[in-house]
Amino acid sequence: MATVASAPSIDPNVSTFVARKQKMLINGKWVEAASGKTFATYNPATGEVLAQVAEGDREDIDRAVKAARAAFESGPWAKMPPAARGKLIWKLADLIEKHLEEFAQLESLDNGKPLAIARVADVPLTVEHMRYYAGWATKIEGNTIPLILAPANKFLAYTVREPIGVVGQIIPWNFPLLMAAWKLGPALAAGCCSVLKPAEQTPLSALRLGELIQEAGFPDGVVNIVPGYGETAGAALAAHPDVDKVAFTGSTEVGKLIIQASAGNLKKVSLELGGKSPNVVYDDADLDSAIPQAASAIFFNHGQCCCAGSRLYVEKKSFDRVVDGVSKTAEKIRVRPGFDPDCDMGPLVSEEQLNRVTNYLEAGFKEGAKAVAGGKREGNRGYFVQPTVLVNTNEKMKVVREEIFGPVVTAIPFTDPSEIVTKANDTVYGLAAGVWTRDIKKAHATANRLKAGTVWINCYNVFDPALPFGGYKQSGWGREMGHEVLEHYTEVKSVCAAL
Ligand code: ADP
Repeated sequence: MATVASAPSIDPNVSTFVARKQKMLINGKWVEAASGKTFATYNPATGEVLAQVAEGDREDIDRAVKAARAAFESGPWAKMPPAARGKLIWKLADLIEKHLEEFAQLESLDNGKPLAIARVADVPLTVEHMRYYAGWATKIEGNTIPLILAPANKFLAYTVREPIGVVGQIIPWNFPLLMAAWKLGPALAAGCCSVLKPAEQTPLSALRLGELIQEAGFPDGVVNIVPGYGETAGAALAAHPDVDKVAFTGSTEVGKLIIQASAGNLKKVSLELGGKSPNVVYDDADLDSAIPQAASAIFFNHGQCCCAGSRLYVEKKSFDRVVDGVSKTAEKIRVRPGFDPDCDMGPLVSEEQLNRVTNYLEAGFKEGAKAVAGGKREGNRGYFVQPTVLVNTNEKMKVVREEIFGPVVTAIPFTDPSEIVTKANDTVYGLAAGVWTRDIKKAHATANRLKAGTVWINCYNVFDPALPFGGYKQSGWGREMGHEVLEHYTEVKSVCAAL
């Protein structure tokens, strides 16, 4: 903690916040864990303890679910008109914007990402996400349905979309605040009540968000925030018999556990899971644009993105130029602590991630891969890994098949454009893909055949609250964002009246 308190640019609110033992938010009150236990969250740039946080478990989850249920069934939230809900969400967005610098610093300290990136990406995207769903609160509608087997004047049939109820929301550590917004925005717009469990590696920004949720004036119990470990608090939330729906973002492995845990009461499940996204560069692409963006497709957020463009396929004639360009970009990336003004890439989030990524690199080298940039840990303090470009790789290798979730791209040439989509689709995942070509027909024909929830053509990592995001195959169930996500937070009721 000493390191944080003495950093010259630290916001005073942030140093006070991390110095304080953090509690959990249940029914509008900040409380200790029922067990009295706490856990540490670490600064990944140094490996030092950043803050102590109340460790939620089954009993805390149960209390939080009870609070959410009471708020949903009978509190002021249940009677609130949609416009008033929308205003509260908008107010929350304004408050997050007002505290942008604080959130950016918390995110950088807890997750490791560059402060400059958190300032222009994580926090502003969170604000806009909330505003987008503030607007949706007043636009959730049903339909009138003309029955086909009866004359029109015999029945009036219509559908209503009702909030699904109490939702358990389990989020990862790669974009801690933004992922909280992806979950809370649509849930609140639909009129649901939430129990949110942040990742154990990065609980701080969600807890600060909880303070602003109270300041905005959301009724008690509408949003409850229970930090804790996945195997305990997360598992209890996924299995809880009084949770109507669970929304999860994280690994495919844990996604499968969530499905099993949800079976007890058949709660609805939406999942946004892993990826191993192909990024396909054809010979006729604008390489001056494709090269830097292929680098950023993998290195943005240190490769800790479920949609990272981690399999780079380049048509043979352009292969050397693209690999050379991406490698030169990788070598120029300054790997530093997130608070360093010259930081382009910070540390990975945890020691576990550091080990995971370096183990993958070792496995790749053993199988014959060669690093043309990076290839190892950077320094020996904190969890830094060099941005890495691997060649001599093929589809049988672990580094090509499995999600690394770090700054490691495998580059593979292809000669036959008619076969590239088959290769690109040769994965259990289907989250995202990139296509680079000047040929409009080829671009759309490739997009058409790719089995991925998002296809970026001549761009990558373009996110917008209005654009649905989610996966085919083992990359998940359902979509986040856009109006699509609202389907996961509402039930459809058909009403049929005889006239
Ligand atoms: P990663 O492996 O990248 O940390 P996880 O899928 O393990 O990703 O974590 C994403 C979120 O899922 C975190 O909030 C974590 O605490 C939670 N989690 C992990 N295991 C479980 C589980 N068995 N049940 C419910 N949630 C879990």
